[in-house]
Amino acid sequence: MTERTIALVTGANKGIGYEIAAGLGALGWSVGVGARDEERRKAAVERLCAAGVDAFGVPLDVTDDASATAAARLIEEQTGRLDVLVNNAAIAGDMPQEPTRVDPVTIRTVMETNVIGVIRVTNAMMPLLRRSGSPRIVNMSSTLGSLTQQSGAAAEQTTGPVSVAYAPSKTFLNAVTLQYARELSGTNILINAGCPGYVATGLNGFSGVRTPEQGAAIAIRLATLPDDGPTGAFFDDAGVVPW
Ligand code: NAP
Repeated sequence: MTERTIALVTGANKGIGYEIAAGLGALGWSVGVGARDEERRKAAVERLCAAGVDAFGVPLDVTDDASATAAARLIEEQTGRLDVLVNNAAIAGDMPQEPTRVDPVTIRTVMETNVIGVIRVTNAMMPLLRRSGSPRIVNMSSTLGSLTQQSGAAAEQTTGPVSVAYAPSKTFLNAVTLQYARELSGTNILINAGCPGYVATGLNGFSGVRTPEQGAAIAIRLATLPDDGPTGAFFDDAGVVPW
């Protein structure tokens, strides 16, 4: 009997994260639904289980050290290892985020969730990932974090508001992804960043043009990379995104 692949998706109670969990579950994987709110977590797990997914709840607030440690302990007790971590949880932060008017608290709050939260959860899960035969880490980023796409002639095609908290948080996350890949080169751990496109979710007041299911596709692709797949790169559905 082949062992089930075990994944954890952070922020999996709604939006793109929920669809990532559903998509990985449809592959026959066992999926941990990382979510901070008990009711929303339970509701998502119930919905996934009703759809035939082997889902289990993982209480997780990515801004909290003790919560990340407890989440790792729970997964260790339930499964003994982790094959795939999808760092999906993020916030947009209070608007407006024009550099000249922003409240510094907004920047600190967004960075705590979108960047430090990813590092915190990744490092808490690292001992479990190291026990996997083919560990994969997927960091959900955004093309808004691409300095190439935010500058020069490319910026004329760039959508999205000027934002000095959310967009730079994804630039920082991309840089963090690259540094993890450098440290982990020579191991079997592949870590990449993925952009879901402009998806209708609560993050943007449901103004996006893609469905959460479409947005989840890139994460599923990066979660299922073969052993000789890329690491330390940034992708969307169309291919490599410039940093
Ligand atoms: P969403 O619907 O707002 O969902 C965000 C998820 O993150 C929710 O489950 C939320 O939980 C969770 N979360 C936020 N802070 C958390 C914390 N401290 N601890 C644990 N969970 C937390 O957003 P989405 O659009 O699906 O976004 C998913 C990912 O895609 C994000 O990384 C986002 O930056 C990225 N992305 C989205 C778009 C887009 O167009 N939507 C575009 C590019 C990139 P609660 O329900 O408890 O708040």
